[in-house]
Amino acid sequence: MEKQLFKRHLISIISAVALVSSATGLYAQTPEKSDIDEQYIWDLTDFYATKEAWEAELERLRTDISQLTAFEGKLGESAETLLEALDTGSAYRKDVTRLSTYASNIRNTNLGDPKGQAMMGRLQALFQAASAATSYMAPELVALGKEKIEAFIGSEPRLEKHAFFLRNTLRQGEHVLSPETEQVISLLRTPLSAAQGARDMLANAEIEWPRITLSDGKEVHLTNAGYSLHRADPDREDRIAVFDAFWGKYKDFESTFGVTLNGEVQANVAMAKARKYDNTLQYFLSGDNIPEEVYRTLVNVTNERIDVLHRYFELRGRMLGVDDLGYHDIYPDLVKTDLTFPIDKTRDYMLGSLDILGKDFSDKFAEASMDRWMHVYPQPGKRSGAYMSGAAYDVHPLILLNHQDDYNSASTYAHEWGHAMHKVLTNENQPYELSGFSIFTTEIAAIAKEILMQEYLLERAESEDERLFYLGYALEQMRGTFFRQVMFSEFELAIHEEVEKGRALTGARMTQMYSEILKRYHGHEKGVMNITDREAIEWAYIPHFYYNFYVYQYATSIAGAAYFVDQMKTGGEEARDTYLNFLKAGGSQHPVDILKDAGLDMMSPAPYNAVIDRMEVVMDEIEAILDKRAK
Ligand SMILES: [Zn+2]
Repeated sequence: MEKQLFKRHLISIISAVALVSSATGLYAQTPEKSDIDEQYIWDLTDFYATKEAWEAELERLRTDISQLTAFEGKLGESAETLLEALDTGSAYRKDVTRLSTYASNIRNTNLGDPKGQAMMGRLQALFQAASAATSYMAPELVALGKEKIEAFIGSEPRLEKHAFFLRNTLRQGEHVLSPETEQVISLLRTPLSAAQGARDMLANAEIEWPRITLSDGKEVHLTNAGYSLHRADPDREDRIAVFDAFWGKYKDFESTFGVTLNGEVQANVAMAKARKYDNTLQYFLSGDNIPEEVYRTLVNVTNERIDVLHRYFELRGRMLGVDDLGYHDIYPDLVKTDLTFPIDKTRDYMLGSLDILGKDFSDKFAEASMDRWMHVYPQPGKRSGAYMSGAAYDVHPLILLNHQDDYNSASTYAHEWGHAMHKVLTNENQPYELSGFSIFTTEIAAIAKEILMQEYLLERAESEDERLFYLGYALEQMRGTFFRQVMFSEFELAIHEEVEKGRALTGARMTQMYSEILKRYHGHEKGVMNITDREAIEWAYIPHFYYNFYVYQYATSIAGAAYFVDQMKTGGEEARDTYLNFLKAGGSQHPVDILKDAGLDMMSPAPYNAVIDRMEVVMDEIEAILDKRAK
């Protein structure tokens, strides 16, 4: 689940390129389904009738780049000129985004096809040219200053839809440096990010991963992908052998991984200092204007209630029949099922689960989900995982799945349609300029739909085994998406603070720090789970520590989703409308403000308690079933 969570990703608003690709490789692994009904393949003619039409549009936009530079040095002339410049820029961005949404989605269904690659390559050049042509804008706006820009906004009502962008540019302008310094920083961008490339090369290409023989005589190759497959092996001795070999190999390279991660952290700390932020956390949260308090409250509340995670491990030990739980016991499935979730059935389940959102919402989903927005099944060369690509404002979202008729696929379907419906409501209610919502909010919308489908299926489960299956899945999702991500967030913050305090950060030091956190989260001192030095090297395996304070959003998202589902279940129509207003708000404000308007204060403990409480309820239900069976 965790692996799949990392794969499944919202497509970035601007570039329609996935932000995170999985460590298990880019290509979908499953063989082709032959004779796929065209109903399950998206129809891209809504974007452009033909590839020639796409070509013609590309040519037009290439020529039109000169329009973007026409306003350089003139933004302060009048409110009308500013409006014209901003309207021109956003119209251009809207069209170029449609162009790239089309191209990237064609490419993602066949990564080996040079035609798709070539389309993307030509766009890259256009993006670069457009970005260079508009690079004057932010510094010029910052130089105009708050007073003048506010006066313009006050005098020209049509500037209202640009006001959020203008104010946000001014806010970030406080951290823009002199033109010479900015130039030096931009020259240093590539060398400053070299550590991540070195780490990926080492972990994914250069290390010779061990091969071991499992109890059934099968030899397995423990690459990163091999590990994630075999760590869940039902045979405990096999799992132990897998962990010994895999982590042992990482341990051999502890010092080198230490150098690369230290390099990344040093670069981050230096950039935060250069841009005059109080600390590195503040720097990386500033893009979405997220207060540091959100991050710190998340970590604090989780630590206060870490007993709930320990209770889960004890329950896991009980279900696996293991009384000396180790780190190698985290991954095997608690409950197996023969249930299947074909795509049409999945759609019916989701539709059923949306009653709580009212008829209007479910009608919209019912119609959209029949409208060929999805590329459903795996095929050779198709990108693995799943995503929603919603950047083309005046067309419609697209959803790429690799549906395999299992529950995980069904849950992914609910997740991606959660993103898509967020986009639909946003676009109906916001102008293009305010339609770009952030990951911080839309992941809440997506996970909420997963939870709703889970509850719908739980209510209708026909047997105790089926109930146990959904409950076990929910529990594991909360461990992997909430607790584990908070643990990573805590470590990520700790290593940055270590450097901020001027201390040396070596591989050995990171192992020591990680070990302390790992032990605390897994109840080592309390005898819940025995954590050994072997797995304390795990930090070297996690690519996300190079993603600049990204992973905490997995945790805030499932927390926010749990909160809203609770509210809707008890709050009636009012709670529902508040939630729908959150979806309709799109990117009209900073994420924390949008959520606050919907009654959710991400700086308070409420959302984090909501997901932890949910975990307790799930465990109560599982234990009740187990106790009954034990009698
Ligand atoms: Zn998502």
